[in-house]
Amino acid sequence: MYDLIIIGGGPAGLTAATYARRAGLSTLILEITVCGGQVINSQNVENFPAIAQIEGWRLADQWQKQAQALGAEIRTAAVTGIELRGDVKLVHTAKGDFEALAVIIATGAGHRKLDCPGGAELSGRGVSTCASCDGAFFRGRKVAVVGGGNTAFEDALYLSTVCERVYVVHRRREFRAERRLVEAAEGKTNVEFLTPYVPAEVAANELGRVASLRVRNVETGEEITLDTPGVFTAIGMIPNNAAFANVLTLDEAGYAVAGEDCESGTPGIWVAGDGRKKALRQLVTAASDGAVAATAAARYVNLLCR
Ligand code: NAP
Repeated sequence: MYDLIIIGGGPAGLTAATYARRAGLSTLILEITVCGGQVINSQNVENFPAIAQIEGWRLADQWQKQAQALGAEIRTAAVTGIELRGDVKLVHTAKGDFEALAVIIATGAGHRKLDCPGGAELSGRGVSTCASCDGAFFRGRKVAVVGGGNTAFEDALYLSTVCERVYVVHRRREFRAERRLVEAAEGKTNVEFLTPYVPAEVAANELGRVASLRVRNVETGEEITLDTPGVFTAIGMIPNNAAFANVLTLDEAGYAVAGEDCESGTPGIWVAGDGRKKALRQLVTAASDGAVAATAAARYVNLLCR
C-alpha cells in the first residue's frame, strides 16, 4: 500500500512525485511508456523559468532523476481504471493492481489524429506526430505540417532546417501559435503557408507509404496535391481521461473539470496537468498543478493516518 500513486510520469506527475517525497509520502508513479511526457519530443524548450534553453529530452531526464533521487518509485504499466474501496484506491493496471490512500491523475493528452482518408492508415508510414523524431527521414525532401498552433510552428521551423520545403496547411487564415514562432516561420524561404486549407486525403505509393497529401481550400473548394512523403500532424491533443470517468467530471472535450486546487471532486483523488480543464497548458502550469496536487494529497494522507 502506497500513500500516493501518481498516474502519468510527465511534468505534472514528476513534479507531484518530487513534492510528495519531500512531504514524506511513499510514492509510486505508474507510467505507460517513458517518463517525460510530450516535452521529450520538443527540440528545444526556451520558456521554462530560469532555463534559457534546454533540449526537451534533457529536461525530462533531469525531472525524472530529481524525483527518483528523492525516492519516488517508477513502474511501467498501463492503468485501466481506479476502484474506490473506502479510503483505499485500487489502481488497476495491465500488470496487476496497486493500492494507495491518495491518487493524482496526471495522464496528460495524446495527439489528435488526422480524420481524412489515409490519415490513420498511413500513421507511421509517412504520417507522423513527431517532427523531431521522424524529420530526419525526410532530409532534403518536401513535407507538410498540418495545424496552426505552437506545435505546428515548432515542427515547421525544425523541419525547415532538414527538408527542402515545408508546407504549413492550416484550416484558418489566422494562426493560434505565438507571434514569435509565426514570424520566425514567415522568415524562412522554404516554408510555404496554405490557408485556409484542410487535408482531404493522404495517398500511398505502391510500397504503402505516403506519396502525397491532397488539400482542399475550405472557402473555394479548390484542391491541390502536394507531393510529399512526410505529413506531420499537429492538430491538438485529446485528454487521456477516459479510464477515469468514474472518479472525474469530464467536460464535452474530455478534460477533467477541476479548479486550480486540482481537486477532482472525489475525496483523495486529484487531477494535474494537461488533462485538467484550464486556460494555459504549458510545462510551467503542469508543474504547478503537480505541486498543488501533491501538497493537498500530503495533507489528506496525514489526516487519514492521524
Ligand atoms: P493547439 O494549440 O490546440 O493547436 C491545434 C491546431 O490544430 C490549431 O491551429 C487548430 O486549428 C488545428 N486543428 C485542430 N483540429 C483540427 C482538425 N481536425 N483539422 C485541422 N486542424 C485542426 O495544439 P498544439 O499546438 O499541439 O499545442 C497544445 C498546447 O501545448 C497549447 O497550449 C500550446 O500553447 C502548448 N505548446 C506550447 C509550446 C511552447 O510554448 N513552446 C510548444 C508546443 C505546444 P484552430 O486554430 O482553427 O483551432
